[in-house]
Amino acid sequence: MPRAKLRALTTVDQLVAEEWIAGGSVVDIRDVVTNFSLRISAEMRQAIGSGDHGLLRQFVPSAAELRVGPEELSDPIGDRAHMPVDGLTHRYPDRVILAVTQACDVYCRFCFRREVVGQGGLLGEAALAAALDYIRATPAINEVILTGGDPMTLAPRRLRGILEALAEMDHVALVRLHSRVPVVAPERIDSALIAALGAHPAVWIVLHSNHAAELTENARAALGRLSAAGIPLLSQTVLLRGVNDDAEVLAQLFRSFLRLKVKPYYLHHCDLARGTSHFRTTIAGGQALMAALRGRVSGTALPTYVIDIPGGFGKVPVADPWVRAGSDPGAYLLTDWRGGEHLYRDPERAI
Ligand code: SF4
Repeated sequence: MPRAKLRALTTVDQLVAEEWIAGGSVVDIRDVVTNFSLRISAEMRQAIGSGDHGLLRQFVPSAAELRVGPEELSDPIGDRAHMPVDGLTHRYPDRVILAVTQACDVYCRFCFRREVVGQGGLLGEAALAAALDYIRATPAINEVILTGGDPMTLAPRRLRGILEALAEMDHVALVRLHSRVPVVAPERIDSALIAALGAHPAVWIVLHSNHAAELTENARAALGRLSAAGIPLLSQTVLLRGVNDDAEVLAQLFRSFLRLKVKPYYLHHCDLARGTSHFRTTIAGGQALMAALRGRVSGTALPTYVIDIPGGFGKVPVADPWVRAGSDPGAYLLTDWRGGEHLYRDPERAI
């Protein structure tokens, strides 16, 4: 049956019309969206309308976002702590993150960059040129990760221009795009976008998806187009309380990825972004889920469970020797890639 044409949802009045005001008053929700952007793509709006609450919780604002814990940070993974030029994070010697836009097709309620996404548009021409100059002048950079916002919201012509510039730099062997677009706005994956992705010889896509209900018929077709074009696909999933903190939900998602030729890559512990404590699980809870998955799904379906050490110290697997239980319940010692040690405590509300 043909689907009714929906548009993206961007206002509180539209939430009211959809009867998607839950867990707070309309006034609370207006307060939330003053600080954190609201946008639900047409594809996800349609999917939520079909009644899946794993999706509703990810995209529909809640008054719980007004609660900011003392441990929560405006820049939880420390992007700005390693920013030699605007829009470019250089945390590890051999790779950089280039935030080419602040726009996304959806604004996820748990986003670790929620303070910046939706607040602006494209990285300006001068800043982009400065970032490319920095990469050009730094031969140690082997890999460039395009992110944002969502880099696949760029017009194909602009994306092609960036990839062509990177392709001219011999030391940039690999370009990774971190994107939610194939799932939340699959109509963007057309021949023009796929042709643009061919402008660098080694483009990989890391798909952000958290629940099998996101893998709609349109999303599956879009992923099929990308894999038919020979683009390697990996996944990243955020572990979210009330969305996917269940072994069977995760097993279904990871098995679906493999069927779509997407290799499960990372399961992220939910970062300490402001107003997201209602999404956060405990470290022990995440480890128990990974243990429950082992044996239930094949090794190819298992991602690595990782945590970004708050403050910009990088990502580590949630396993010994990088993450070790401390003396108090809920306290952990995290060891970063340089050997530095950091205390992490499960926020009280997650326990
Ligand atoms: S698509 Fe990614 S960057 Fe955009 S809001 Fe969601 S998690 Fe954040």
